[in-house]
Amino acid sequence: MNRLVLFDVDRTLIGKSQCHHDAFTYAFKKVYNVNVDIRIINYGGMTDPDIAIRVLKKIGMDEDQIFPSLNHCMETIVDYFQKNVKRDNIPILPGVKELLELLSQNGILLGLITGNLEPIAWGKLKSIQIAHYFKLGGFGSDNINRTELVKIAVKNATKNFNFNGTAFVIGDTPRDIKAGLEADVKTIAVATGTYSTAELKKFNPDFVFKDLKDGKSIFKAINGF
Ligand SMILES: [Mg+2]
Repeated sequence: MNRLVLFDVDRTLIGKSQCHHDAFTYAFKKVYNVNVDIRIINYGGMTDPDIAIRVLKKIGMDEDQIFPSLNHCMETIVDYFQKNVKRDNIPILPGVKELLELLSQNGILLGLITGNLEPIAWGKLKSIQIAHYFKLGGFGSDNINRTELVKIAVKNATKNFNFNGTAFVIGDTPRDIKAGLEADVKTIAVATGTYSTAELKKFNPDFVFKDLKDGKSIFKAINGF
């Protein structure tokens, strides 16, 4: 395997999961007895534990209050998500299925880099029947820092999937690009989230695409290196 492509999940492969969003609100109330919505911060590209910490700090809690119950909070988020995901209506973004098919048919190893806790990431992708394309990943439950997630996934690919070559991350936020650059892999930005192609270009990704619909060009970019 000489190509590894690591996809972000939210706003790269799929649209909004209301269930994941509601899981935070539910867990904050249950574990910390506070009413707060994660939209009080700009959480795009952040890991789930990092989102929780920053939201709780923003409403005035300190680390001594947050950290002792953080694992319980994460477990509560997963629990709520798994109980309610059946009623969620997660959209797959345009071109995604075709791109995953094209890449995997050409022997490219596919993985995930997502701030989602691992059971949540797999739960979302299973609910739209694309989980089977991905062999490995780095998840918000592995590390709070996204750059570390990329390193974990590349290591895993090298050790367990005979990967030796060029790795790419594909994501919709500056945090995806930054993590890729810091982990020394190639970066592909896609403007399917809240950032435009012009905004993403400022962070110097190797490639920028409007969306994932032009699979052939993306495939070419990946093979050109
Ligand atoms: Mg994203």
